[in-house]
Amino acid sequence: MAFDFDLLMKKGAEVAEAAKRTAVDLADKGKKQVDLVNEQAKLAKAQRQLGALVYSLAKNGEENQPLVDKYIQAIADIEAAIEELKAEGVEVEEPVEEPIVVDVVEEPAAEPADEPKPNTCPQCHAEVQEDALFCNQCGAQL
Ligand SMILES: [Zn+2]
Repeated sequence: MAFDFDLLMKKGAEVAEAAKRTAVDLADKGKKQVDLVNEQAKLAKAQRQLGALVYSLAKNGEENQPLVDKYIQAIADIEAAIEELKAEGVEVEEPVEEPIVVDVVEEPAAEPADEPKPNTCPQCHAEVQEDALFCNQCGAQL
């Protein structure tokens, strides 16, 4: 039986068209709202990273005030951007906490080859966390 390439291409075009429409809708609904959501996600990420950094420093009895300051500055910048958007009347609904769903389907263990390579700092090539804002070694912005 011949594979129906025409149908496949048509389906693909439909999907692409739908994605394009969704993107346009989003733009219509307000790019600012998207900006605000993005900034709030960035804020949560930076706060999480700062928490992880402070925890690891405290646990190891170390200090790295310059790096902590960088995170605090980055968080202050994001907060300022959020305040600016809110001052313009941009609102987003508070994210609803997702209920915890117990997954009964056993996921097959990922092949080690599929693991993403750990990110490295472009400055000092130290291993850095995937969503770290700054290198823990040299403080370079990532
Ligand atoms: Zn570095």
